[in-house]
Amino acid sequence: MTRAWNFSAGPAALPEEVLHQAQEELLDWHGAGCSVMEMSHRGKEFMSILAQAEADLRELMGIPEHYKVLFLQGGATQQFAQIPLNLLAGRSADYIVTGSWSKKAFKEAQRVVANAGTVRCAASTEESGFTRLPTAEEIKLDPFAAYLHVCTNETIHGVEIPAERIADTGVPLVADMSSHILSRPVPVEKFGLIYAGAQKNIGPSGVTLVIIHRDLLGMAPLTVPTLMDYAVMAENGSMLNTPPTFSIYIAGLVFQWLKRQGGLAGMAAINAVKAEMLYDCIDGSDGFYTNPVAADCRSRMNVPFTLADARLDAVFLDEAKAAGLLGLKGHKSVGGMRASLYNAVSVEAVRVLIEFMNDFAKSNG
Ligand SMILES: *Cc1c(COP(=O)(O)O)cnc(C)c1O
Repeated sequence: MTRAWNFSAGPAALPEEVLHQAQEELLDWHGAGCSVMEMSHRGKEFMSILAQAEADLRELMGIPEHYKVLFLQGGATQQFAQIPLNLLAGRSADYIVTGSWSKKAFKEAQRVVANAGTVRCAASTEESGFTRLPTAEEIKLDPFAAYLHVCTNETIHGVEIPAERIADTGVPLVADMSSHILSRPVPVEKFGLIYAGAQKNIGPSGVTLVIIHRDLLGMAPLTVPTLMDYAVMAENGSMLNTPPTFSIYIAGLVFQWLKRQGGLAGMAAINAVKAEMLYDCIDGSDGFYTNPVAADCRSRMNVPFTLADARLDAVFLDEAKAAGLLGLKGHKSVGGMRASLYNAVSVEAVRVLIEFMNDFAKSNG
């Protein structure tokens, strides 16, 4: 068996230790006589898995008591609708558009609110090709907005909001953290709601994490489907219906793995090293490779880059695959390449990637 170096944007690499543990426990979880996939979600075994996963996540992220942690379904994409449906309450919301994902969130909010409220674009960097963050002067906030929505890491464009630029604006801050949650410490109390699909940095697809301040619960109008009402899901411990049990179980194993890596501070230090290695390789390639993103907001998780000669793209990908490097094709909307350096991607994997990139540039430059 050979496992390749996996740079997929999502579903993405999982820690090998976690996969081994899941394999060992697959047929008989802790003497239960069946796998986690085959047990009742209301039995004491699964209830303990869920409780442990939540406790470990709370410890890792330092989530205060007055926030609820929900394990939902529908992906981050369902949150694009569920957030305005729950939180608008006939008011207006602001969106900062910094890439494909925040643009999708903005469009979906416009779609679901119809006449019930309004949705404003408070700033957009689309005209500069989503390669930078808006300046403070460019952001036009509504002080009466029900919430302000941001995407703190744009997975496709490789734009990340540095932690120190997350400021209090006086309205609840709602953040799509799908592609960099758990990659660095997060000041949870600055946010009203944090959400993330699992398949980048948490675990397998199928579970969506929502961390919500209790003041934002109970605002949904009665027309909102029961399953999409945050308050109902919170009251029922994310178990109004059958939750994605296996995804939650694997996410729980990932949380324990993260604790063994030194928690989020430990992970952030490793992630900084990986990102610096790859950006140095790109910037030091004399233009053979280019990353278009402004230096102050380059993503540590998703690194898009292009080759000066796009005719070499297919050769690059073929040779990368032959060298055991997977998932490097860029998103179709931006072209070129993208290397995703999520938590489970090791420093060693990045070293192998850089060696390949340097060799490729030498042979083809
Ligand atoms: C992947 C991704 C999404 C979409 O997630 P799904 O779980 O597929 O709905 C949304 N936002 C960001 C930032 C993403 O990276």
